[in-house]
Amino acid sequence: MPEPGIDHPRNRNEFMDWFSEEEKCYEYLEKIRWKSGFICPSCSAKQEPYRTTRGRLTCRSCLHQTTVTAGTIFHRTRTPLRTWFSAIWHVTNQKQGTNALGLQRVLGFKCYQTAWTMPHKLRRAMVRPDRERLSGLVEVDESYLGGKETGVVGRWVDKKSIVAIAVELNEKGGLGRVRLRQIMDVSADSLTPFVCDMVEPESTVKTDGWSGYSKLSEKGYIHDITVISSSDSPAHVSMPGVHQVASLVKRWMLGTHHGSFSPQHLDFYLDEFTFRFNRRTSKSRVFYSIG
Ligand SMILES: [Zn+2]
Repeated sequence: MPEPGIDHPRNRNEFMDWFSEEEKCYEYLEKIRWKSGFICPSCSAKQEPYRTTRGRLTCRSCLHQTTVTAGTIFHRTRTPLRTWFSAIWHVTNQKQGTNALGLQRVLGFKCYQTAWTMPHKLRRAMVRPDRERLSGLVEVDESYLGGKETGVVGRWVDKKSIVAIAVELNEKGGLGRVRLRQIMDVSADSLTPFVCDMVEPESTVKTDGWSGYSKLSEKGYIHDITVISSSDSPAHVSMPGVHQVASLVKRWMLGTHHGSFSPQHLDFYLDEFTFRFNRRTSKSRVFYSIG
């Protein structure tokens, strides 16, 4: 049996072999959950539990029952774990991610609804390992997605969704990790919490001269303001990081999701983008970060 977090299936055949039966999937989840053996969540007894089907475990000391899937995205699912695992494999190994239609085709779902809700649940799980805040030199800006291109004046938009972007720059000017969030407007009430949630205090935060960023100094950041309107360089020169990330997000939304999304689901897509972007240089497959 493979060791979770250490052994990674190298290809689809190996993956299919490891998770050929429902029981193997439960066994695998159990090993992720209790690395050095089952511990009863009720009485803390550390001993082999009684096992029944679908990952149900019973403590030998107090007879407390728990499931392997409690507290995971698989909790109370009616879909077999094998199907879930296949979906994760598919979603994380497609270079550009996948949409519901692709997943339905690959996994042979009869019901589009199942194929549609699955990637959303996965995206939510994907972002969990990403709670750590950015630090060092961080560029912050907003970008607009969807809606009509015409008739937009300045920052005041009608049907477009606004996305706040924060990206780390390393010493050589290369891009580090990103954080994205859909925001309702570009006021300080929206932008200040975004920066506080995503960036460590005492980091240098580089923004343009927009008043929505005016409270960053008092929140403990070193605020580096580039006033684009009064400088000769266009936005993509003075803020290369966020500019690049913004165009990658747009291209990805167009390519994978055909540019169509409803604003209430945009956060899920942003989570998936973040997850992929932040692991773009990692050789290990992302399957294990979700488990
Ligand atoms: Zn117990």
